[in-house]
Amino acid sequence: MILVTNNEGTLGVPTSARMLADGAGALDAIEAGIRPIEADPSVRTVGRGGWPNILGEVELDACLMDGTTLRTGAVGALKGFLHPVSVAREMMRRLPHELLVGEGAARFAAEIGAETTDNLIPDSKRAWQAWFDAELSPEEKRLWPNVALAPLCRHAIDPEIGRDTTVFLAQDASGAICSGTSTSGWGWKYPGRLGDSPIIGAGSYADTRYGAAACTGAGEMTIRCGTARSIVLYMKKGATVADAVHEAAEDMRALQGGLISRVTIHAIDTRGNHKVVAVNGDGSNVYWLWEGAGAPRRCPAEAVAISDDAIGRVSPTARYTARASNQS
Ligand code: ASP
Repeated sequence: MILVTNNEGTLGVPTSARMLADGAGALDAIEAGIRPIEADPSVRTVGRGGWPNILGEVELDACLMDGTTLRTGAVGALKGFLHPVSVAREMMRRLPHELLVGEGAARFAAEIGAETTDNLIPDSKRAWQAWFDAELSPEEKRLWPNVALAPLCRHAIDPEIGRDTTVFLAQDASGAICSGTSTSGWGWKYPGRLGDSPIIGAGSYADTRYGAAACTGAGEMTIRCGTARSIVLYMKKGATVADAVHEAAEDMRALQGGLISRVTIHAIDTRGNHKVVAVNGDGSNVYWLWEGAGAPRRCPAEAVAISDDAIGRVSPTARYTARASNQS
């Protein structure tokens, strides 16, 4: 058995590890581990308390994948519900579909009686309002929201306004391997923007025969590279989990234009091995590891640079009020 989550998984790791130790299935353990993270407003990048989009609305993404059946459930840009991961789980049970977005996802969530909530907490509202007051011209304010949003979207790459996800990878006592993700995506994103978290094959993938992978960071990069699926395919072709993750990081060198930033890749194989690599990381990334016994422990991720200027392009000192700092 093994459980790997990113640092954002702190609130759920003990639950998932205990459930796996007690014989629970990987999918149940992952869903149960992600739910408290979604519900806690102090986690600013997942569920309630997540940063809003550029219109000040919280849009949530989540998915689960069962590596034995290769069934998935994913929701994107879901508004007004507390547990997107559980809506994704119910999709696997009740629908012949794999991905629902926006109004359709909300309609399904309401249909199954999923818990509703206002995900925009007062502090997020305050931060969004401060951005609005400081950054928009009087004319834009007068016309709001009927203004061009695209020029304002550079704020979505500001690291100070929240970008992270929680990712869980688990192998249970039966050997089944599953993955799960949940996120509010990038703060100040264009409405309807989906990151990689609900995109199976980009932000996560699981196959009980080979292993699983999940990513955090710039979803635009892993969508373009099909990162999570690539890692599992590399393992299928005989690569170790470490080599597969490094190969996927190498794939990112081909990216030209668009957003180049940081991505952290998490992966496990079928034999209890794992690898976590922070692409363009600054050496501070940590993750949670539980290897079937004892308590989960925090471990440092390996940092790998794939572009010399990537970190400089997303200034770590930028603020959501610093309009000029993110123009590129
Ligand atoms: N991967 C997420 C997204 O692109 C955000 C993150 O993990 O930082 O929406």
